[in-house]
Amino acid sequence: ANLNSQITSKIYLITIIKMSILVLKFGGTSVASVELIESAAKIVKSEYEAGNNLVVVVSAMSGATNILIDHVNKINYDDDSEYDVVVSSGEQVTAGLMSICLNKLGVPSRSWMGWQIPIITSDSHRNAVIKRVIPDAILKNFDDKKVAVVAGFQGISSDGRITTIGRGGSDNTAVYIAAALNAERCDIYTDVDGVYTSDPKMTKNVKRLDKVSYEEMIEMASQGAKVLQTASVESAMKHDVDVNVRSTFNPKDMGTKISNDIESDNQAVTGVAYSKDEAKITLIDVEDKPGVAAEIFNKLAESSVNVDMIVQNNFIERKMTNLTFTVPMIELERSIKLLNDLKQKINFSKVLEEKNLSKVSIIGSGMRNQPGIAAKMFDCLSKNNINIEVISTSEIKISVLINREKTEKAVSELHSTFNLDKI
Ligand code: ASP
Ligand code: MG
Repeated sequence: ANLNSQITSKIYLITIIKMSILVLKFGGTSVASVELIESAAKIVKSEYEAGNNLVVVVSAMSGATNILIDHVNKINYDDDSEYDVVVSSGEQVTAGLMSICLNKLGVPSRSWMGWQIPIITSDSHRNAVIKRVIPDAILKNFDDKKVAVVAGFQGISSDGRITTIGRGGSDNTAVYIAAALNAERCDIYTDVDGVYTSDPKMTKNVKRLDKVSYEEMIEMASQGAKVLQTASVESAMKHDVDVNVRSTFNPKDMGTKISNDIESDNQAVTGVAYSKDEAKITLIDVEDKPGVAAEIFNKLAESSVNVDMIVQNNFIERKMTNLTFTVPMIELERSIKLLNDLKQKINFSKVLEEKNLSKVSIIGSGMRNQPGIAAKMFDCLSKNNINIEVISTSEIKISVLINREKTEKAVSELHSTFNLDKI
């Protein structure tokens, strides 16, 4: 009996010493009202009482950032650094409210803005890049048994100005903090209980995935799955941070785990993603000589236009080529203008644009070692009379550009063709 109790107390001691650091991030829909912040605070309280050291990263209340952006846009004057001051403020509100709720529940906490930690970013505004998180202040916070509530989406530039890190950036704040603190896990709490084989709002019989690899998640996010910001998954992969996507409304469930160690089952495709805001641009009869493509895409890149699928087809006898590529709908008008400006520098006969398009992608690391996936995809689309306008592929993804009206049909037919409704 004596030995037994010695063993028990030793185990007890080890549990006390091995307190984990967890980062919990709550998205906009999880903090959309004071009542919701109060219930999110209860999730934090239970993790705190389990003995963990906690950092809570919050987004702005759902819709708040859009309202702030609208305010700035009304003024019709470019001022990127003040834009970030205004647009970052949504997160300050939720950080303060979350901290008040925690203190009320008896969980000691305080809020931190990006600049107070500090989270150091590049000097560019609107889409700054996180360079470094200095963890000392938060670690000191843990010594005082306090929960650190951190405003997501914001940081400080080298010249001491407030920056924001791109839409959806709070996910990235959470991952970076988890990396800097060597946290056990980064839990992303949202309004769905994980990552699905396709969009549950659009497709029937979708299945929740228990595990997804970083690579697959990067493709899913960049191809339109909105559950996580793409850059945050890239950061998680780079810094080897385990991420769980969990539901605020069902906090007992561990959700979907995103990490490296995914053993492959025989599934070639793990998800079907789509994005409905694609526009296609075609430059007709572009002069076919070295440097032309570089000229065109540099021009677009300098203005931060996100070019996606690119297809070029040259007519050797005529020394001409047609160049087709896609950009997000919101960047179409700007892109056309930039291309017309280029007309003095490079020769082409005209620019065509096409709107009503969407991009549908199948994603899966199992594609690497299974032949015939592309054929099966195209076959499925042809059987459903869906025309493919542009195709692009990577090692673990095949994307097609189609008529927007056919999006639902294409996604659901592909979902069942690749047996995603049966996993
Ligand atoms: N509030 C910011 C946005 O709406 C950042 C975030 O929520 O992750 O983009
Ligand atoms: Mg988000």
